[in-house]
Amino acid sequence: MKTLICQSCGWPFTKATVGTNRDKSDNTDFCRDCYQDGAFTDKSLNLHQLEVKLLEMAEMHEDISLEEAQQLIKKLPELKRWRMDHI
Ligand SMILES: [Zn+2]
Repeated sequence: MKTLICQSCGWPFTKATVGTNRDKSDNTDFCRDCYQDGAFTDKSLNLHQLEVKLLEMAEMHEDISLEEAQQLIKKLPELKRWRMDHI
């Protein structure tokens, strides 16, 4: 199965957890956590809040190291969702 990278949270996901467009088709740019039925699940989320969330996830989940989360955070500004913010 092809692994995709969510263009909102930067987390890898697969077809099983892919986001959905308004017509229920797959949106392969985003994971289901971030994007459902053609809209972001948390529209008010900003980059800083996402960084905090990722660090919290690293603390809670043993399979995610703090280093991994920090690597991810560095790449966030390159993702489609956050690039759009800065235009
Ligand atoms: Zn996501």
